[in-house]
Amino acid sequence: MTTTSDTGRTSVWVWGDQLNVDLAHLRGRDPAETRVLMVVSDRKLTERTWHHQKVHLLVTAMRRFATELTEQGFEVDLRRASSMRDGLHAHVDAFAPSSMVAMEPASAKGTATLQALGVGLVPNDHFLCHWSEFAAFRDGRKRTTMEDFYRWRRRVTGWLMEGEEPVGGRWNLDEDNRKPPHRGLAGEAAATPPIVDELDSIDGDLSAWLPSDIRLQGAPPDGVWATSRSGALARLERFVEEVLPRFGDHEDAMVAGSWHLNHSLLSHALNLGLLHPSEVCEAAIAVHTDGRAPLNAVEGFVRQVLGWREFLWGVARCAPPDYRDRNALSADLPVPPALTGAAPTQMRCVEDTMTSIHDHAYAHHIQRLMVLSNLATLAGIDPTAMTEWMHGAFIDAYDWVMVPNVIGMGTFADGGEVATKPYVSGGAYIDRMSLDYCTPCRYDRKARTGEDACPFTTLYWDVLDRNRDTLRSNHRMSRAYANLDRLPDLPLIRERAQEVRARLSAGTL
Ligand code: SF4
Repeated sequence: MTTTSDTGRTSVWVWGDQLNVDLAHLRGRDPAETRVLMVVSDRKLTERTWHHQKVHLLVTAMRRFATELTEQGFEVDLRRASSMRDGLHAHVDAFAPSSMVAMEPASAKGTATLQALGVGLVPNDHFLCHWSEFAAFRDGRKRTTMEDFYRWRRRVTGWLMEGEEPVGGRWNLDEDNRKPPHRGLAGEAAATPPIVDELDSIDGDLSAWLPSDIRLQGAPPDGVWATSRSGALARLERFVEEVLPRFGDHEDAMVAGSWHLNHSLLSHALNLGLLHPSEVCEAAIAVHTDGRAPLNAVEGFVRQVLGWREFLWGVARCAPPDYRDRNALSADLPVPPALTGAAPTQMRCVEDTMTSIHDHAYAHHIQRLMVLSNLATLAGIDPTAMTEWMHGAFIDAYDWVMVPNVIGMGTFADGGEVATKPYVSGGAYIDRMSLDYCTPCRYDRKARTGEDACPFTTLYWDVLDRNRDTLRSNHRMSRAYANLDRLPDLPLIRERAQEVRARLSAGTL
């Protein structure tokens, strides 16, 4: 979609995760005086192995947004280029814009790139709390937890507040949202099905946009993910009207074959810019105000968006450049074949999670945290490599969200800047929070030694043992270490753990 017309207009460079006319780069601009540049970069598409559905989402959403802008009277230059930089230079050569502006990219790296290229930046308003506000809030505090940040943002927004106090008297209803699953959550009929769009010619015709050496994994697109604002709004409505009322109670539950349960499936649209976090939170709060969704469901969801999502952006943007390479537990295993798809696994919890990722480029938050990241921490998988793999595998992954999520929250590789203790557990937690992972599994979640021992259970004790110097002084780990010290069979656990790690690496676990 490249045309040449009069020069001298301002060009607005819209990045692929800024697809909204109501964001700072496009809001209020006169289409007659504005040209829009969008670049599909070969370098970006070949920098890692991507899930097929993620690549489809990125390219198709940009093409649909270009069409929407054209219909609104904007002139749009959507071009494929070898790199973002080359795309800009080609645009400038073709149109000689009077000025180039863009909204500050979500990542610090992207922002630095645009600054180096001399592109004028307007602050990013795709988040509810700009990272500079986050930095000011954190300044002078010894430690800033997500809970501190979240309560501050509740007060700032007034969401779910009665004056200075939280609606219902409690800030955090997590306790209500950790109920183990029950049989009623199993089967297709137990959860509201996601909207599935029929694929059209734009979905089907990607060949001209993809480099020949692109590496794809996973199933092809099936219409589950929104590639337009109208599609995203329809999914938001479906969620708040039909799914949210049942979201809270079993937020941390896992059920084999039920890949979405009552999760929102909105993160892809939020992170592309198709939805703004304010409209998402306000829609959720409105159904509680109307009495159609319980407080624990709505608070749990608002916590994810207003709390975790914004907190992690602040952490990512304020972190030093070496944050992504932190490795506090000296983990050095490569990402194992069970995760890359190079080998099957008999660990039923991992196998079900990997099926969800293969089919949908998605796993819900507790599968990401307590199955995948837990396994990475327990086995000692290199956290930077794990971040890279997850970035390519998930539909909603971007650098700003994956780095603090995996390095900080998931694997404790930052030594405790994001999480106050490692999120690690043996098979007992997975058994309690899953309906049907452990009972039919080839491994015994109670056994910590021997051929049938659950790898999670063995490795749980082993990771505590291997990291005494780093973790023992953490007061939140004191009970775990007291239990470790009482184990009579530690030598056998160490032996089995070595075997488990070797078999995980060999793809035979
Ligand atoms: Fe996963 Fe262990 Fe349970 Fe098997 S027994 S499903 S490996 S936690």
